[in-house]
Amino acid sequence: MENVASQHARVLSGMRPTGRLHLGHYHGVIKNWVELQHEYQCFFFVADWHALTTHYEDPSIIPESVWDMVIDWLAAGVNPGEATLFIQSRVPEHAELHLLLSMITPLGWLERAPSYKDQQEKLKEKDLATYGFLGYPLLQAADILIYRAGLVPVGEDQVPHVELTREIARRFNHLFGREADFEEKAGAAMKKMGKKNARLYASYRKSWQEQGDDEALAAARALLESQQNINLNDRDRLFGYLEGGGKVILPEPQALLTKASKMPGLDGQKMSKSYGNTIPLNAKPEQVEQQLRTMPTDPARVRRTDPGDPAKCPVWEFHQVYSEDSVKNWVQEGCRSAGIGCIECKQPVIDAVLAELKPMQERAAEYESDPDLVRNIINEGCEKARDEARDTMEEVRHVMSLEYR
Ligand code: SF4
Repeated sequence: MENVASQHARVLSGMRPTGRLHLGHYHGVIKNWVELQHEYQCFFFVADWHALTTHYEDPSIIPESVWDMVIDWLAAGVNPGEATLFIQSRVPEHAELHLLLSMITPLGWLERAPSYKDQQEKLKEKDLATYGFLGYPLLQAADILIYRAGLVPVGEDQVPHVELTREIARRFNHLFGREADFEEKAGAAMKKMGKKNARLYASYRKSWQEQGDDEALAAARALLESQQNINLNDRDRLFGYLEGGGKVILPEPQALLTKASKMPGLDGQKMSKSYGNTIPLNAKPEQVEQQLRTMPTDPARVRRTDPGDPAKCPVWEFHQVYSEDSVKNWVQEGCRSAGIGCIECKQPVIDAVLAELKPMQERAAEYESDPDLVRNIINEGCEKARDEARDTMEEVRHVMSLEYR
């Protein structure tokens, strides 16, 4: 199935709007998006329905967070000329696909999702024994499958959700992938490739199906990927026909593993709003300086003359994110010999964080002063996303016999 996933080279990723973004989001997610947008066709969305799965009792934070978050994305370098930016609830087809997939999703698959129990434990103050919370990995699956996205950037902990999405796609294709006139349609699709390519495809298919020739399979996949004259539906049909299955309606995505962010919080734990240890992307320079100057250091350094150990100090972790080797060596030596003081040691970090935030904040101010521009970017993105989602749903309704209107 890898071929189908890479063939689309489309990336889908979303973020929940639950407050202002901070440096942890920037280093953990957005920097990666900025790189991905150059390489792939990217769809980035505001996961406002997902925010409701845990914030249903107080959704008032969501509307403001939506726009703040989009501004932070743009300010951090996400480019609407390269990526499609949209809001989940503005593409109601996500909900339709979620509902239809729920018909074929065994309850056990959702109950087994590791995040289900974990999050319930972690967020004990909230009542998460809801249908919506149980189903949120399925909503994620719908988010991905509706764009036939091939790649989903995730951290290690989210891999099981992509795996669940693959299982659901497989089940869906298995149940609904064989159209009544499948063979005929596959034949017609072959013809569209031109005589020579059609012959080549047929001979590769024969070698694969009769002799299990892996090279022929790979060659046939490559051939399909290079075809310009056939549309997505026909291509999916031919992928299915090649391997003896039906049509691949919802291609299985793959996890694109992103390196865990090294961005520590001000107390050395992971930077996260729930720990109260964040530096917001819109923090004023005085606030940043104050936060970093007062952050804890190696407790052994009570007096300036006491030597310390960077391994026991959260400031060192900031140096690992921001400092060059020469500065890191200076820290190691100066800390262990008490040659430098902690305030001195923090200065390069303060300078680096301020330098990183400054251009982002300038761009954010421009977008903040022009809300219409931001709304237009999102409107355009929503339209584009909706067109794609509509195409998929047409096909889904067709194979699920829901076209009697
Ligand atoms: S000198 Fe630097 S690394 Fe050492 S304890 Fe102070 S802040 Fe931490």
